[in-house]
Parts: sequence; structure tokens; C-alpha cells
Amino acid sequence: MASPVPPRVPRPGYGPPNLNPNLQRTPDYLSDNMQNLQINRPPGPPSAMPYSSGPRPPPPFANSPFSSSSSLTPPMSSYPAAAPVSRPGPPPSGFPRAAAPPTGPPQSSPAPNLASGRPSVPPFSQPPPFGLRAAPPQGPFPSAPSMTGPIPQPSIVQGAMSNGPSVFSQGTLPGGPRFPSAGIAQQPPVVPPPMASSPRAPPGQSIRPFPGSPPYNAPLGAPSQLAPPSFAASQGMQSPMATPYGSQMWQMQSRPGAPLIPSSAQPPRMYGMPPPPTNQHLPPVPPIMGHMSASGASITGPSKIDPNQIPRPIPSSSVILFETRQNNQAGTPPSATSDFMVKDTGNCSPRYMRCTINQIPCSGDLLTTSSMQLALMVQPLALPHPSEEPIQIVDFGEGGPVRCSRCKGYINPFMKFIDQGRRFICNLCGFTDETPRDYHCNLGPDGRRRDADERPELCRGTVEFVATKEYMVREPMPAVFFFIIDVSMNAMQTGATAAACSAISQAIADLPESPRTMVGIATFDSTIHFYNLKRALQQPLMLIVPDIQDVYTPLETDVIVQLAECRQHLEQLLETIPTMFQNNRVVDSAFGAAIKAAFLAMKSTGGRLLVFQSVLPSVGIGALSAREAEGRTNVSAGEKEVHKLLQPADKTLKTMAIELAEYQVCVDIFITTQTYMDIASISVVPRTTGGQVYYYYPFSALSDSAKLYNDLRWNISRPQGLEAVMRVRCSQGLQLQEYSGNFCKRIPTDVDLPGIDCDKTIMVTFKHDDKFQEGSECAFQCALLYTTVYGQRRIRVHTLSLQCTTVISNLFRSADLDTQFTCFLKQAGNEIPTTPLYQIREQITNLCINVLHSYRKFCATVSSSGQLILPEGLKLLPLYTLALVKSIGLRTDGRIDDRSYWVSHVSSLSTPLVVPLVYPRMMAIHNLVSKEADESIIPPTIPLSSEYVTDDGIFLLESGEDCFIYVGNMANSDILLQIFGVPSVDEIPTQFVLKQYDNELSKKLNNVVNEIRRQRCSYLRLRLCKKGDPSGMLFFSYMIEDKTPGGLSYVEFLVHVHRQIQTKMA
Ligand SMILES: [Zn+2]
Repeated sequence: MASPVPPRVPRPGYGPPNLNPNLQRTPDYLSDNMQNLQINRPPGPPSAMPYSSGPRPPPPFANSPFSSSSSLTPPMSSYPAAAPVSRPGPPPSGFPRAAAPPTGPPQSSPAPNLASGRPSVPPFSQPPPFGLRAAPPQGPFPSAPSMTGPIPQPSIVQGAMSNGPSVFSQGTLPGGPRFPSAGIAQQPPVVPPPMASSPRAPPGQSIRPFPGSPPYNAPLGAPSQLAPPSFAASQGMQSPMATPYGSQMWQMQSRPGAPLIPSSAQPPRMYGMPPPPTNQHLPPVPPIMGHMSASGASITGPSKIDPNQIPRPIPSSSVILFETRQNNQAGTPPSATSDFMVKDTGNCSPRYMRCTINQIPCSGDLLTTSSMQLALMVQPLALPHPSEEPIQIVDFGEGGPVRCSRCKGYINPFMKFIDQGRRFICNLCGFTDETPRDYHCNLGPDGRRRDADERPELCRGTVEFVATKEYMVREPMPAVFFFIIDVSMNAMQTGATAAACSAISQAIADLPESPRTMVGIATFDSTIHFYNLKRALQQPLMLIVPDIQDVYTPLETDVIVQLAECRQHLEQLLETIPTMFQNNRVVDSAFGAAIKAAFLAMKSTGGRLLVFQSVLPSVGIGALSAREAEGRTNVSAGEKEVHKLLQPADKTLKTMAIELAEYQVCVDIFITTQTYMDIASISVVPRTTGGQVYYYYPFSALSDSAKLYNDLRWNISRPQGLEAVMRVRCSQGLQLQEYSGNFCKRIPTDVDLPGIDCDKTIMVTFKHDDKFQEGSECAFQCALLYTTVYGQRRIRVHTLSLQCTTVISNLFRSADLDTQFTCFLKQAGNEIPTTPLYQIREQITNLCINVLHSYRKFCATVSSSGQLILPEGLKLLPLYTLALVKSIGLRTDGRIDDRSYWVSHVSSLSTPLVVPLVYPRMMAIHNLVSKEADESIIPPTIPLSSEYVTDDGIFLLESGEDCFIYVGNMANSDILLQIFGVPSVDEIPTQFVLKQYDNELSKKLNNVVNEIRRQRCSYLRLRLCKKGDPSGMLFFSYMIEDKTPGGLSYVEFLVHVHRQIQTKMA
């Protein structure tokens, strides 16, 4: 195995100057995911086979184009074989391995391991190889050998806001936090609930109009009813649409004098819910209707919407198979939130690139007319489904991949070979190139190259090219992990330091002992402490850097050491740190200086910097002030002005972040705090360097340690790339407008990504600069040049070619709801720091209204103005828009840091996680057992309306980030006993731990939680919510469909949208 890089690192002689590949080469080349990779070389010089070959898993879709090609080297195994090191742990059971490329008959059914669904579980125990995450262990989550015993009830209950001694300082370390059986509930948050009053307004309460929508108040007519006669009875909730692309409509029925409170507002009895007690809830509609009536305006007449019939997400229970092209045309991909498997038949998988519209308008005017936006969500290293065919690796040898000589686009299935294959026309810029002599092939009768089906780059939407020297300004960098830990008094006392040390110690055990894996560690309070980890030393030597204004790094060569050389020392050190600083009375934190000092140590290599921070940075470079206090008046000034606290305090950290990015240092920050941290300022560093912020607030050592560990472990073990550069190209006629995400950009065309991983998404917007011919295609190509953690330089290329159209209804038919909504959300996130919130809410609402209006105007065939007509593909757009308007980011009442975190979180959030973030899943768990035998672990979801939250029930709500368990005040004591081990709500401890008891209900609930964690790739934070206290209010703030003091109910919002459309039509 000819590793492209000498295994010894660090390599002396690396000049610090410019390590950014961009600056020394033309910026337009680009491109292991460490998983599912196969090698495939085109026939050619046999010398450059850099990787060993081995078996690979059979593709889920048979007829592998490679099965008949004798000239190809056998594909390599699903990635580990490519790497110079193997990761600990057995191969994932889900991957059957074949000794040779499969030649069997086509498999029409999902591959064997399909049942495991999304290949994802945050690392719990032994990590599978990168990207191949096994299903979570049944039952308890054993995190470390020490965790496997019976789970002790925590003996010390610590208030979340307490600064008292941590559980860890009491001798539970070493060994780390006790990871609870299936999850931990956190004590109810101490923050006041976001909603000032009950989510359901009493009938007499005055209703605030939808923010930023004046027409709402004025000309609203008499009470109206939107009745859905068209499909109410026959279609119901399960399948509201008969035709795949039909229109959905609600007729505004004229019913003068109809009662405002329809009895039909009673919650529907679906999802196995018992009928609610008759005296229980007010229907959500009446208050606003009454208000509208009082306003005395009139438009059409009374109308009503039946809440039972409004569009809501219906999760699909079966796995969808999607071929990226069929009949030589791109199809509309399945919903990003659904479970699907992709066969790459020319276009890349929608996991990697999704477009807001799956047909491209021929002109900019047509796009404008549709009111839709043209944008791509690019997630270049996204995790594939475990049963999907692995990405092919193509090695062109020394010449490198074939590219267009004008636009530098990479060879792809849509480049057209002409002149007997001697020349090819670029599908991006239209330029005609000579085919390189050694790449020449004759054309078949169909005009395609005869070898097209054998060459992945000519028949696959995604390939990975082995990068040649040309794509390197230096040898590929080693994988450096540098940890810096806050040991100031507060961090010590809250148990944050101990939790961080324990998490690092356990997570590091899972790093590969490759000569390329290097680690370093530092601690800081008002000074910075490095540790010499060289083996020769008896004990790690502490090296103190007292100057936090003009930072330096001691002994540069010994603070970052090969992991293999220092594992023991490191473990020992991590065990010692909590005791070493036990009595630390230093309250200051030199956060910026510590990052700077670590950066100086990493400068020659670049790498990953992981910061554990617990208090507001108060001294040294980049110190911040507790400006939240002064900002409170700003809060009370309302939302009319921009909140300065949502912007970075100054440019110091930004400047530092750009320098970090330049030297390929990617920073992640784990915020374990109980106070204001100025996330708006701090988050600039991860956002600029391709990292991310993790936020544990209010930090509780008891509740959050398990999540901290799991987050860290996933962070360092997930598929990722280093020193990356990404560029997206598009066909002539379109022009790239903007990139949005976590990166550093120095030239307009490219983004620099010191770190990029499978979870990160970048949004790219486009505009027209020319017209397309009807029937032509418009292509998008994303090229990501990156270094794998094993030191391979690769270019991953995704190509997506879509049909162009002059017909507006085609645009609506091929509209992608999830992507469009993700676009809304990211735009909102980008605006929050600079635009008043009410304005953003108005903009977002208008975006939604404009799209629906365009559809109504240009596509709907029904002429009656009394109908609200939604395009089938976008029928959930109003619901999601409403949910966004009510989200943490756009609500006025939240904490500043919560909003800043939200902004930073959504910046790189992937499409499949966007929807649950604003429209979480809710399910009843008190009746899990009584459910009929259903194959899915996750029970049916319930609409997010308090109508459905009964007092005698127990409900679970999850957003991909958090998981709330709500217990009604009249919950059955038997059920409480089964789930919580106590017979009454009051006896459930505030710091409750979800345990698994020996009964069916408890087992099922634990399975549900585990399954959600697996699906979300996230160890969700579990919190207990009780009716009648702040935690219950927090829970109800997620009832998006409810009327709130600051926002409309879902039904009202539909009425609002409808009226706005009518006004525009008039
Ligand atoms: Zn070109």
C-alpha cells in the first residue's frame, strides 16, 4: 500500500506561510468520506494503485456496471481497507461482505440491513468505522466498561443553577459520569418559559395580530369558515391527496351567521388517541374569529376551516427507493425527512445536493413569476443509507481527472462526446475540448461512449477522484485533535471540567492509533497551561503561559504528540485535571488567548481544536463583557430595532478566526454553562472555521454529561475531511449568487473549510444571467477537495443535471418543500443579527404567501375566490412557515444566547434536521403498549396542538436537539409506576433519569428514545415537563398550531394566508 504520505508527522520544514491550497493554485480545482468507498481505476497505467483492494458490500441495486469489466481492479471494501489504519471494533453487522463484486440477480427489495434504517447512532460504545454506525445497543447505553453495571440512582442531586460541588468532585471520577440507562431527563429549566401566558388564549383575550401583517386586523370579514368539502370525508388524514400532484383546496363556504365555535373543532380521534374529555379544551379557532367579527370588516363571508382536514406531515412508514434519473430525466426526490434509498443513475443523491425546484425555469422572469427561490442545499459528505452503493473512487493517475479546460468543471455523465469521441462539450460552460489521448473511446450507436457504463465518472452523479500533487500545496495534513478545557472556578464547581475530561478520555479511546493521529491538550483560567505529553516524562509536565495578551506557545514540538505515543499519559492527565484544579479560585477565563496559544501550537499542521468553555471569556485577547445586562433595556425596547447583542461585540474573534482558517484549524466549542456566554461573539470562531457550537444550558453535570460525551465522540469519529476547499459550478445561464454556511471565504467562487463533516450543509443560491432553451438541461456541480483523516487527498464531485422548462406549473410540480423551507430558515437565520425580528417574520410570511399566490394565479384551475388552493408539493409550507415564525430564533421572548445559538445552529443545519427543529415530532407514550402490533418502533405522531395533550396522558416531543417528556397532572398511576418507578407525578424527581424497568411499557419507551437518537444522529437531551410549572409551559411553547399571545393558530394562519392571496388577486 503506497501511502501518499510518509506516516511520520509532524514533518519539519513546513513553512507556515500559506497553507491554503487556494492561494497557490488556481482556485478552481477541487473534491473520502471514509466510508463506503470503492476504488475504480480507468484502464491505464497500472502503477498508481495506491490502495489495497478488498471485498465490498454488494450494491443494493444490482447490475453493477463493474461486474462485467475485467479491466477494473476489484473494488475495495467499504472504506476501512483504504485507510492505513483500521478502527477498533468489529465490522458493522449490517454490511455483508462479498469477496468480489456481486454479479447476482437484481435485488428489487431493500438490502438485508435495511431494517436498521438510517445508519446512524451517535457513538455509544465501541465505534464502528467512520460512518458505519451500528444500531444502538438494546436497552442501556453502555458508554464505557464502567457504565455497564446497574445504574445507580444519583446520590447527589444538584440544582442546575447551583454552583455547588459537582457530582464529579465527590469521587465519582475517574470513570466519568454515570450514563443512565437510556437517557437522562434534565430538571426543568430555570428560565422562564418563552410564552408569557397559556398557549391557549381564553376567549375574551385580546388577540395580537400576526406581526407585521396589518391587513389582518383591518379588513377581515365576518367570521368565516373554511370548509373542506372537496375531500373531507373521503380522504381523511392518512392520504389527503388522490393524485400525486393534484391541488388541495379548501372552499370558503358562505355561511352567514354560522356559529363561530364549530363543534368540529373538537380534536379528531385519530392516531389512536382516546376522545378528549368534553370539558377539556377550548377549540383553537373561536377567539380570533370573534375578534375578526368584532373588527367589523368584511370580505367574503363567514367561512370555516376544519382543523381535522388541514395539511399536516404524514410520515411514511416504508422505505422509498429513488433512482436519481429515470428515462433520462431527473426525478423529484423523496422528502428529506423520509426514509429512502438512492440509486445513483447519473445524478447525485439528494442527500448530497437538493435543489429548491427540480426543474429549472428557462428564464429569470419565470422564476420571479413563480415567486420561488433557486437554491441548492449541499451536504458533500452526507451519510449514505447503509444499503446504498458505495461511492466509486476513480484514479486517473498522474494526469489527474479530466476537466474542462475553460471552466475547470470535472468530467461527468452529462459532458457530450462528439467527433468519434475525439472531443467533448462541457455541460457547464459549453466549451469544446479535445479528449486526452489516453482517455479516448469510440462512440456507440446511441452517441454515448462505449465505455460509459464502466466508468463511474461517466455514469454516476457522485464520484471521488484521487487528487494528484497538483491539488496539494503540501503533503496532506495529519489529523490533529487539540483539546482546551476551562478550569476556572465556575467550571470546576459546576462539574463542567470533570465532565469534559471524562468525555475526552472516553472519546479518545476511540481514535485510531494511526501515526497520523495526533493530540494535544491545554487547560486555562486566567492563564494557559500546556502539557508535555512525551513518553519519556514520568508525568505530564505542566507549562504555564502567563501572558494572555501576547500569547506564545511553549515547547512547540512536544505539546502535540502522536496519540500512540501518549495515550497513557493523556488518560492519566485527564483523570488528574479535575483534582488538580479542585480548589481553583480563579474566576477569569482567557478563552481567546487559549485558542490563540493552541493555534500557535497547531499552526504548522492545522487540525481540529475542541474548546470546552463554561464562563464568559473575561480576560486576555478577545475578552467580552457581560453586555446582556446592559442589553436588557434593549430587549424591553421591543423588537422594533435590531438587537446589537445578536452581533459580535467586536472584530477581534473574527480576525482570529480568519487566521485560524488560513492555517486549516477548525474550531468546535462546547459551551457548558449556567450563565450568559455571548454566543453571538463566540460563535464567530466555529462558523468561520467550519466548526460548530454545542450548547448545554443550563449545564447540569448529572443530566448533560452523557450528551457531552456522545456529542464529542460523534464529533471526532464521524466522517469528515480536513483542509477542504469547495466550489459549486452551474451551467451557463445561471450564476452563483451566494454561499451560506460555516466556512471562510476569501475569493467569491470558493469556500474554505478547515473542517467539513457529514452533518454540515452549505446553501448556495443562484440567479439567471441568461436564458435556457426549452428541453435543455441545467447542471450543478459541487467539487470538494479535501484530505481524509487518513491522509488521502481526494476530490469528491457531485453532479446534478435538471431539465429546463418554460411552464410554470412544472416548477410547482417539481418544487421541493423541504429544501424551500430550509432556504427560508437559513435566510431567517442570516437576517436575525441585522434585521428587526418582526420584519423577518413578515418577510418569511410574505415569501410563503407569494409562492402560494403565484400558484393560485398561474396554475390553479379553480376560479372561485372562495378557495384556498395549495400546490400538493408545497401544502405544508404554511405550517412550516408558521412554525418558523414561532421558533426560538424568531420569538421575541427568549434569551439572547438561546437565539444566538439558534442562529449559529441553523447556519450549517442539514435539510433533514431543519423540519423537526421547528416542527418537532410529538407522540403519546402512555399507550405505547396498547397499540396494535405495528412494525415501526416510533408511535404515530400527533399534531402539535394542545388539543391533543390530555391531562391523563404522557407525551414525548423531539426536535432532533431536545427531547421532552410531558406528564399530565392526571396521569394514570400504574403507568407512572411502569415508566418512572413512582406512582404519582409529584414523586418523579426533578432530576429524573429515564430508566428501563422490567415491564413492556418501559422497554418500549426506551426503544423509542433509542430509535430517535439513532435517526437523528444525536444524543438528545431529555427533559421532564410537568403540567402547571415552567417546564410545562416550555413544552406547550412547541404547540405550533395553538394560538399564542404573539402568534396565530394554524387555522388562523391559513385564513390569514388565504386573505392575503385574495387581496393580491383582487
Ligand atoms: Zn466548461
